[in-house]
Amino acid sequence: MPESLGDSGGSPITMNLNIIVLAKQVPDTRCVSQGTMNADGTINRAALPVIINPDDMKALEQALRLKEAHPGSTIRVLTMGPSRAADVVRESLFRGADGGYLLSDAAFAGADTLATSYVLATAIGKMGKCDIVLCGRQAIDGETAQVGSQVAERLGMPQITYVEKILSVNDGQITVKRRIDDGVEVVEAPLPLVVTVDGSAAPCRPRNAKWLMSYKHADIEMWSATDIDADLAQCGLAGSPTRVKAVESVVLKAKEARVMGSSDEEIEELMKSLL
Ligand SMILES: Cc1cc2nc3c(=O)[nH]c(=O)nc-3n(C[C@H](O)[C@H](O)[C@H](O)COP(=O)(O)OP(=O)(O)OC[C@H]3O[C@@H](n4cnc5c(N)ncnc54)[C@H](O)[C@@H]3O)c2cc1C
Repeated sequence: MPESLGDSGGSPITMNLNIIVLAKQVPDTRCVSQGTMNADGTINRAALPVIINPDDMKALEQALRLKEAHPGSTIRVLTMGPSRAADVVRESLFRGADGGYLLSDAAFAGADTLATSYVLATAIGKMGKCDIVLCGRQAIDGETAQVGSQVAERLGMPQITYVEKILSVNDGQITVKRRIDDGVEVVEAPLPLVVTVDGSAAPCRPRNAKWLMSYKHADIEMWSATDIDADLAQCGLAGSPTRVKAVESVVLKAKEARVMGSSDEEIEELMKSLL
């Protein structure tokens, strides 16, 4: 079995794959500070820079490696969000994706994971033949890790979660390496399927200068609820059974760190308190 796509050696068995990558624009949570929080404990999204969710970039890299191993394959990126989320598709084009769509509509606002997965799965259904849906394991803002699995359920496709590396795709079968608590496991599944990519996967390649110049002003096609024939009762707030009861701001009062010297007495005292 080949160790991995994208590694050297081995002539690939060519199979044109229709790959869809789900990618979300998220606030860069590394920049969260007192000033970026609202009084009610929610994040002031407008005060934070946005990035593509890190796991989704890793999903894109796995898609790009698949495309290299199977020339003639196509990668399309799907994102749901406000109009500025079109940059998610553009950033993907800069790295080698073939196209993508922005799902944006007032009817999608206020979506919980159930409504988000409904809109994404409905759009995937409209995109025609699809062999592999790749998404991140978890978004750094919502952090539920539910959307990928829910999309698989809605599409009636098998799913493999926590994937670190796609090893091969041959004869309608995919072989992947999964990261689990105690190590890794190698799993096979039939296509079509949904794969959620773990944070331990390889980082995404940088932008390609030529594609950056070609696509920096690319118009990204936007789909509304009407465009994907969505049932409005299952979109946005209307389709979201989750209700946030309360948001609590946790303030750490005690430090878990202590400054100490290196004298024998101080070390002995530390040993005693640890014991
Ligand atoms: C009651 C309620 C109201 C909410 N209202 C809003 C709101 O108004 N605005 C808002 O921004 N959020 C809102 N949220 C948060 C929103 O539900 C989640 O951000 C969203 O459902 C995705 O869940 P997650 O972030 O936990 O993603 P995860 O399940 O952690 O994501 C897993 C993977 O799914 C894919 N994915 C997830 N979301 C998207 C997306 N939008 N586009 C493409 N791929 C995606 C990515 O590949 C991602 O890595 C609300 C949540 C609740 C409970």
